[in-house]
Amino acid sequence: MDPSTNPAGASPAPDGDIPIAEFRAAMHRAADIAADYLGGVERYPVVPRVSPGAIRASLPAAPPRDGEPMAAILDDYLRLIEPNVTHWNHPGFMAYFAITGSAPGIVGETLAAALNVNAMLWKTGPAPTELEEHVCDWLRQMVGLPPTFAGHINDTASISTLIALAAARESAGLGVRQHGLSGRADLPPLAVYCSDQAHSSVDKSVLTLGIGLENLRRVSSDEDYRMRPDALQAAISADRAAGRRPIAIVATVGTTSTTSVDPLPPIVEIARRERLWLHVDAAYAGAAMICPELRTHFVGAEAADSIVLNPHKWLFVPVDCSVLYVRDLAQLKRTFSLVPDYLVTAESGVTNLMDLGVQLGRRFRALKLWMVIRAFGVAGLQARVRGHCALAQELRRWIAGHPRLDVTAPTPFSTVCFRLKPAGTGEEQDRANEALLARVNQPGEFFLSPTRLYGRVVIRAAIGNLRTTREHLRRLIVRLEAAVAPS
Ligand code: PLP
Repeated sequence: MDPSTNPAGASPAPDGDIPIAEFRAAMHRAADIAADYLGGVERYPVVPRVSPGAIRASLPAAPPRDGEPMAAILDDYLRLIEPNVTHWNHPGFMAYFAITGSAPGIVGETLAAALNVNAMLWKTGPAPTELEEHVCDWLRQMVGLPPTFAGHINDTASISTLIALAAARESAGLGVRQHGLSGRADLPPLAVYCSDQAHSSVDKSVLTLGIGLENLRRVSSDEDYRMRPDALQAAISADRAAGRRPIAIVATVGTTSTTSVDPLPPIVEIARRERLWLHVDAAYAGAAMICPELRTHFVGAEAADSIVLNPHKWLFVPVDCSVLYVRDLAQLKRTFSLVPDYLVTAESGVTNLMDLGVQLGRRFRALKLWMVIRAFGVAGLQARVRGHCALAQELRRWIAGHPRLDVTAPTPFSTVCFRLKPAGTGEEQDRANEALLARVNQPGEFFLSPTRLYGRVVIRAAIGNLRTTREHLRRLIVRLEAAVAPS
């Protein structure tokens, strides 16, 4: 080869991808691996028994010089990777919020990878763009929101909330998009309100948006962990009196620790009166809105400016998939739309998803959501969500009847919070509950996680995996009974 055309002296590029026949064989095997995994996940402990660093220590320090056969790579996947993940697809996973990468969702995710579409513009992804708009509208109908809401898909609720609060900041008319925040003598400190139970993604949003953590008001909640509207109103009035500029309220339907529900109707009233953007974080519990009898918890959400719900939490869509609904899509575009020369296209009247948030490139997430909704149907999804709520009520009743346990919060959805009946000092109670949790989790059949309420340790059992059945609940109760019994 003439070195002038190959200055690095490298060998000429080999032909393209791996052979199609090898790809086909690998995909068939991957399908078998995935099906065996879903069908047999209970052979694993939910949390792998692996020490930090052990996985890296088992991998070659340097990358392979030459390509390796897919068969060998899949062998290593089975040996090194699959056993060493925390098994979120395990029916005993009840920590944080239980989720499911359902089979139809996995098919959608796989085919999206094959298409490898970047749906930044309608032109670069006509079907992905229109399917995203359409499937978000299906979901809107399923959760009973009015047609004024338009949805689009982000990776996570953290990003959906960030986008919503950026739109709130812009809608305040302070010209932040153009002039920024720094060095502006004309700008008072901005303030955002949420309850003391709201998710840390609200803090992340205000720190990212230049509002500042000290200007996030964590309004106190009542004995059921619901934001107190009187405290919210008092905080807003105090800020106005001090010359600060309130811009948004974040209400939560389904808080992370207890799944409590902020009282939306009075919060809506305050938002209207004070002319503040109202964002509803229904990342987990939004899925429950598909069941009409559970919509009582969401009355008022239809008056919000934005709502986030995560199909990757309790709607059986593989991570990641978060839908942000906004009442005024134009406001989102006014906040984010920016079209450089190299992204100008001829089509008019189309949605270019890049206009709706920070990111340009976008994965084709609508495909898996479409497949999940079609494969289970609305009635099928409702039945599954109801089934999880019923299991949670059963667990709650058992705990409530246990002489050594207390239920520590209402159970509006599928998560039960509990602890040992108080004995000893606060620290002793915490240690006892931590030890109880460790005994429940130790055999690996179940994985529950802790939180703190009023500063004291509480255990959460979050039911939400598609494969969790009444039989698993029965076994959890046996496990709990053994773990609680005095030694
Ligand atoms: N909001 C609530 C109420 C949550 O419980 C969570 C996570 O559990 C989030 C937001 C953040 O979700 P994500 O991981 O999609 O950013």
